[in-house]
Amino acid sequence: MAPAGVLRIVRTRAELREALGDAPRPVGLVPTMGWLHDGHRALIHQARSENATTVVSIFVNPRQFGDPADLEKYPRSEARDVALCTDEGVDLIFAPSVEEVYPPGFDTTVKVGAVSAPLEGSARPGHFDGVATVVAILFDLVGAEHAYFGQKDAQQLLVIRRMALDLALPTEVIGCPTVREPDGLAMSSRNVHLSPDERAAAPVLRRALVAARSLAGRGERSAEALRREMRRILATERLAEPDYVSVADASTLRELDALNGPALLSLAVRFGSTRLIDNELIE
Ligand code: AMP
Repeated sequence: MAPAGVLRIVRTRAELREALGDAPRPVGLVPTMGWLHDGHRALIHQARSENATTVVSIFVNPRQFGDPADLEKYPRSEARDVALCTDEGVDLIFAPSVEEVYPPGFDTTVKVGAVSAPLEGSARPGHFDGVATVVAILFDLVGAEHAYFGQKDAQQLLVIRRMALDLALPTEVIGCPTVREPDGLAMSSRNVHLSPDERAAAPVLRRALVAARSLAGRGERSAEALRREMRRILATERLAEPDYVSVADASTLRELDALNGPALLSLAVRFGSTRLIDNELIE
């Protein structure tokens, strides 16, 4: 391990194991695809406050992209990410190549069942297989006590929790609140692709979720009424093309008829070629 306060960057499985051999415990892992923003910063901050060593992985995982063009245009800048990690007091960055994560002949997939099927799973076939597989590899390589994920990707968090429980992985999965821009737009590496008009329209996701939440708060119990309200608000933005509008059981993600326990309201909306997601949990 490098001296405290010095950020070290490693790129191979062997270097990572060596760097973590004598690292102070507990270790906290923040898996990312880079192009770090204040949402990632909040995860790192929480990891730092709960662990003696904080590891950030930066890996744009090809296996979780269905569309090669989407993978190609995913924003990348290691220098920018290193600056944020230095600023936040990260101890170690793991920034491997694709070949390092998936050695030649790699032929194993971690596939989580029902909870990975709807919503993002059906809109992006194979996406969660890619996510679960890479996170399983990262959990094994880092051997962290804790790993931090954003509620922004609520279904991903459920998929990873399921996987960790089912495979008895020793890393505890910790969910962190969504960090937003002042106008309510959830921070995302993909926001950089929005044109000025699309960026101005994008907070409609948040407005739709807040309206549905307040309808529920006023006693509405029909899930379809909440979906209708979200669709109505999304329709006020010409540039917003809804992909899905969901009111689902917060643990199984089955679509609900009536609200009678924790529910996850979630949306995927296209603005031109950029697809944004957001969600709101109703307890
Ligand atoms: P990504 O780099 O987009 O794969 O995200 C890495 C981690 O950061 C995931 O656990 C995301 O859920 C989390 N994350 C991304 N955006 C936000 C946000 N706005 N607020 C909180 N966490 C986030």
